[in-house]
Amino acid sequence: TCGICVEKCPFDAIEIINLPSELQDDPVHRYGENAFALYGLPIPESGSVTGILGPNGIGKTTAVRALAGEMIPNLGDYGEEASWEAVLDRFRGTELQNYVERVRGEKVTIARKPQYVDQIPKQFDGVTRDLLDSTDERGALDDYVERLGIAPVMDQPLDTLSGGELQRVALAATLARDRDFYFLDEISPYLDIGQRVTAARLIQELAEDEDRAVLVVEHDLAILDLLADTLHVAYGEPGAYGVITDPKSVRNGINEYLKGYLSNENMRIRPNEITFHEHAPRETSKGKALIDYPALSKSYGDGEFSLDVEGGTIYQSEVLGIVGPNGIGKSTLAKMFAGSLDPDEGELDYHLDIAYKPQYIEIDQPMRVDAFLSSITDDFGTSYWKTEVANPLQLERIMERNLDDLSGGERQRVAIAACLSEDADLYVMDEPSAHLDVEQRVQATTAIRRYAENHDATVMVIDHDIYMIDLLADRLMVFDGEPAQHGHAAEPQEMRAGMNDFLADLDITFRRDERTQRPRINKPGSQLDSKQKREGEYYYAP
Ligand code: ADP
Ligand code: ADP
Repeated sequence: TCGICVEKCPFDAIEIINLPSELQDDPVHRYGENAFALYGLPIPESGSVTGILGPNGIGKTTAVRALAGEMIPNLGDYGEEASWEAVLDRFRGTELQNYVERVRGEKVTIARKPQYVDQIPKQFDGVTRDLLDSTDERGALDDYVERLGIAPVMDQPLDTLSGGELQRVALAATLARDRDFYFLDEISPYLDIGQRVTAARLIQELAEDEDRAVLVVEHDLAILDLLADTLHVAYGEPGAYGVITDPKSVRNGINEYLKGYLSNENMRIRPNEITFHEHAPRETSKGKALIDYPALSKSYGDGEFSLDVEGGTIYQSEVLGIVGPNGIGKSTLAKMFAGSLDPDEGELDYHLDIAYKPQYIEIDQPMRVDAFLSSITDDFGTSYWKTEVANPLQLERIMERNLDDLSGGERQRVAIAACLSEDADLYVMDEPSAHLDVEQRVQATTAIRRYAENHDATVMVIDHDIYMIDLLADRLMVFDGEPAQHGHAAEPQEMRAGMNDFLADLDITFRRDERTQRPRINKPGSQLDSKQKREGEYYYAP
């Protein structure tokens, strides 16, 4: 193996990588003999947002516990009693010296947003307002409630909120605190792009205060790019060791990450580069239609929400990206295609077998992963199934675990595998990126694309991570309207027209990074932003 993965190389290519030189030094913390070791620490900087980019299980939480003063890092001497004096000695003369002095003097207060917001209702009884009122230390809560659109759920019990609502409540609860140091472990899961951009602005505004430092872990690269002022890349072998690099500029950090090579560290972290098309992909020959569907409409109750769908065609073997805000009717359409919901107008008279991966995954059962997956497909365990499904989704290591003690990212990978393992005409996946780290997003993208190509399978992917949609989709179906009131679904379009429609509605343009062609969100009102809006080119180079 190359030192990144313990198992078979998921990239079908093994490049031998020498152990990084950092590992020849003592770690900042080691949990025990042969236990996880952390090398390097991020540097919280007052008045700015520091990002961490890297996989789960690489020691981010460990680092934050040290920075919060909840744990004294042992500098590798796990048998000895750790002391702040020793830590200070280690970091004297570095950028962390001041910070460590403050932590030692117990002068750092912290607020943190947990990674898995779905757990919040298990820890907190009551309605949204009860939770939020107790956090309003700066008198900023009303502003957050308004800008994050939380008002409609203020009096709702927390255990009835959706993941997207919980995410916004958790953000407000964390940002409303009056602390020195804020740690946000992923802000984007379950949020649509508009909400992600709003969350990023609120975090930046908070960090404008010279006394506050914000540290963010985020796997949506377009949002991380927009949000952070500096970036630490984290790499290593999840569960075994993690290295947190010195800070880089956000642009370089993300570029190096995508390239798979860290320049300063002289470290290859991945054999291959992740690349984006600067120009819209050429329209592929479309082949056979899977479904021709007529115009459809559906409303709930006495018309509180209504959805209109333009008629269109979905082709065999294509990956159709579905984009639009939350609450606009995307799941409603998926349910109509699945036959579990009848349209009010328009008829769907075909009988398609649909495999559906919902946005909120409920597979908690005291059942092992291997038992669960083998109950879905007879192919389970064949070398073919391993190559196509299990390996790219890194399931090998979790096969013997129980479904109910998987982390969010592990659960997501099992749910994607379960969906792809079904024998179906159409595979519908709602937010497969949620809780996957960047590397896993890339691997899941590869798995889904490969599956579609090799099986003549048709896949519809609903997602809010624009990089993932870009890498995954052949065409786009764009939803617009007024969330929770009225939704409109356009006919599937080619990528350029689809991206333009979608981003025009959001009023967001992307420029291209000169070196890597990676899309980057433009500053609103900047010259490029205005020019691209005038020309109607929101995403791809003309
Ligand atoms: P991340 O936040 O990047 O997902 P963590 O810092 O939570 O990573 O964990 C990194 C590794 O350290 C994991 O493999 C985890 O199992 C291990 N670990 C965390 N806490 C302990 C502990 N108290 N004792 C031993 N190992 C631990
Ligand atoms: P999306 O998938 O785009 O987030 P949905 O299709 O889930 O949107 O929901 C669209 C709107 O319809 C939302 O306002 C939602 O609250 C409402 N809705 C969804 N299902 C029902 C239902 N069974 N009864 C009443 N309203 C519903």
